[in-house]
Amino acid sequence: MPRPILATVHPEGLRHNLAQARVRAPDARVWAVVKANAYGHGIERAFEALRGADGFALLDLAEAERLRALDWRGPILLLEGVFEPRDLELCSRLGLWHAVHCDEQIDWLAAHKTQQPHRVFLKLNSGMNRLGFTPGAFRAAWARLSALPQVDEIAFMTHFSDADGPRGIDHQVAAFEAVTADLAGERTLCNTAAMLRHASRPLRGVGVSTLAADWVREGIALYGSAPDYPENSAAHWDLQPTMTLSTRVIGTQRLQAGDTVGYGSTFTADGPLHIGVVACGYADGYPRHAGTGTPVLVNGVRTRLVGRVSMDMITVDLSPLDAAGVPAGLGSEVVMWGVSPSTGAVLPVDEVARAAGTISYELLCAVAPRVPFAPV
Ligand SMILES: *Cc1c(COP(=O)(O)O)cnc(C)c1O
Repeated sequence: MPRPILATVHPEGLRHNLAQARVRAPDARVWAVVKANAYGHGIERAFEALRGADGFALLDLAEAERLRALDWRGPILLLEGVFEPRDLELCSRLGLWHAVHCDEQIDWLAAHKTQQPHRVFLKLNSGMNRLGFTPGAFRAAWARLSALPQVDEIAFMTHFSDADGPRGIDHQVAAFEAVTADLAGERTLCNTAAMLRHASRPLRGVGVSTLAADWVREGIALYGSAPDYPENSAAHWDLQPTMTLSTRVIGTQRLQAGDTVGYGSTFTADGPLHIGVVACGYADGYPRHAGTGTPVLVNGVRTRLVGRVSMDMITVDLSPLDAAGVPAGLGSEVVMWGVSPSTGAVLPVDEVARAAGTISYELLCAVAPRVPFAPV
């Protein structure tokens, strides 16, 4: 028997979450953001459920090729654009739309020979200071692109640093409006957090009225997680889990007061304690920083991790099951996050991420190659 750990993707959750985007931004088209192998779910596993999207956004050219190999004929957007001139050949061949965020990318386009003019998304650095032209350089970039025969359509994009938090997006929206309001072209501003929290706020510009604009770029909400957790939960945004990481108890221990568990003896029992040893560790992608108290489901009952996460195992407290009269021991089902197969109980990935001092994105993307996925 293989080691009992298993990751399961829930297509019905992906479908439900995509449908929620239609509710949140009814007039916008939806880019399903599938970078990082669909946030760890696997592009091929997620594809059928997400093919109702209007387009797919990602940044790895090999992932774009995989989408075309799945016979996706619709829009694909490279969020970071091309990394070197010859990438443009693949854009021409596969009909990829691509971001343009720096002068070099315009130089490469100007030197590119293509029968198929490209559709580009000119990116404004509206304050995040990662990729994009500054407001001062944006119009000149637009003028250069407009003059290129290699380009037949220019859309405008920017990305928010604080759509999920208290600083908000006003300063970035103002910067975007200042340089694009009088330009004709499609616009995309919202990631998940902006879509959920700010989609209906007004946006000034030709042919648009709200921040949702022509396209929203939805990532994390497709994967069932709230971008602004713990302020709001996935349930608050009516999102369903899309990935379950499950495994089993492979050993048990009975501790007495004063006994410790695991490396570093970081946990000491203050009385008799029934411990389950679980086949999941940091080599499976489970966060090593998850400490005592991190939630976990055993046979659908919520309990807690105790002691340190090791490479291949964690230890959990089985006492809540004993107290509830739920049998627990060798072979018991354990859910690290997601949905309990036996009871349907849900452990949101957001809660586990928080307990480990990180965000759901990291946990979903980090499921290790040694963890098998159930066939979809
Ligand atoms: C990853 C990414 C998104 C999606 O972000 P979420 O927070 O997952 O919705 C949108 N736009 C860009 C440019 C991105 O890189």
